[in-house]
Amino acid sequence: MTHVCVFCGSSAGAGHAYVDAAGELGRELTRRGATLVYGGASVGLMGALADAVLADDGRVIGVVPRRLVERERAHTGLSELRVVGSLHERKAVMAELADGFMALPGGLGTLEELIEVLSWGQLGLHEKPCGLLNVAGYYDSLLSFLDHSVAEGFFGVEHRAELIVERSPAAILDRIERHEPRVAGKWSEGRR
Ligand code: AMP
Repeated sequence: MTHVCVFCGSSAGAGHAYVDAAGELGRELTRRGATLVYGGASVGLMGALADAVLADDGRVIGVVPRRLVERERAHTGLSELRVVGSLHERKAVMAELADGFMALPGGLGTLEELIEVLSWGQLGLHEKPCGLLNVAGYYDSLLSFLDHSVAEGFFGVEHRAELIVERSPAAILDRIERHEPRVAGKWSEGRR
C-alpha cells in the first residue's frame, strides 16, 4: 500500500477526538512508509492530517481545485500540490493515485467522496479497499442507515461487508493493507 487517499473534514469538529485521530493517522501512515493523498487544504482535519505526516518527514500529495485554493487555504508545505480544474477532476486524480481509500470524520464533502468510491467499487470500476475510521462513534448512524439499506433490499450485503470499519488508525490500516478484492461487481454475470 504505497498511496492512501484520505477524505476528511475541512472543519476540525467539536472536541479533541477528531483532531487527535487525524494526527495519529498521519503518524501511522508515515511509520508504514505510505504517501498521503488528500484534498490539499491546510484547514480542519485535512490540515491536521497533512501536518502530522509532514512533521515526521512523510510524503503528502494534495489535490485541490483552483477555485478552492484560497477558500480552503491550500497547504503551502506539501511534498506536491496538484491544482486541478474542478471537484470532479480532483476526485478522479485522487482515485487514480490511490491504492486504497479511507474517510475520517467530516461533513458533506467527505460523505460524498466516500460514498462515490464505495459506489464505484460496487459497480466493479475499481477493486481498491475503502475504510471508515469511526472516531468516537461519529459514523454510527451512517452505518445503521447502510444496514437499513441492506435490510430493505437496496444495498447488497456483500458490498456492505466490503466497507472496512475500525476505530483506530493502526487497525484500519492493517485491514486496508491486507485487503483482497473478493466481491463481483453489482452488474457482473450471475448477479441479479
Ligand atoms: P467537508 O467534509 O464538507 O468539510 O469537505 C471535505 C472536502 O471535500 C473539502 O475539501 C471540500 O472541498 C470537498 N468537497 C465538498 N464537496 C465535494 C464534492 N461534491 N466533490 C468532491 N469534493 C468535495
